[in-house]
Amino acid sequence: MEECIFCKIIKGEIPSEKIYEDDMVLSFKDIEPAAPVHVLIIPKKHIGSINDLTEDDSKIIAHIYLVAKQIAAKLGIDEKGYRIVTNCGEEAGQTVHHVHFHLLGGRSFAWPPG
Ligand code: AMP
Ligand code: ZN
Repeated sequence: MEECIFCKIIKGEIPSEKIYEDDMVLSFKDIEPAAPVHVLIIPKKHIGSINDLTEDDSKIIAHIYLVAKQIAAKLGIDEKGYRIVTNCGEEAGQTVHHVHFHLLGGRSFAWPPG
C-alpha cells in the first residue's frame, strides 16, 4: 500500500508524534485534534476498513482495545472517561483508508454523535 499515509507513518516516511508502538500496533497524536486528548491507534498491517476485517485479524483488534486502555491510563483520561471511535465508509466520515481507532478524551462528548 505505497500511497497509504498511515502505512507511510508506520514506515517513518511521514513524521508523527508517537504515543505507543509494539510489533502489532502504532499509536500517534491526531494531526487535527477534536478533543484535548486525541490519538489514533492503528494496526501495522494494512487493513482498509472494518469491512475488510477477517477472522485472522481478531487478535489485532482485541489487542488494540487493550492498548487503548493502557494509553487512556497513561494520558490520565481513564477515570473521567473517553471514547473510542472507528469510522467506516463515506457516510461515517472515514477519510483515511487504513483502519484506525480514535481515542478521544479530556472533555465531555455528546450522544448521539453528529
Ligand atoms: P477518519 O476521518 O476517521 O478516517 O480519521 C482520519 C484521521 O486521521 C483524522 O482525524 C485526521 O486528522 C488524521 N490524520 C490524517 N493525516 C494525519 C497525519 N499525517 N498524522 C496524524 N493524523 C492524521
Ligand atoms: Zn495502510
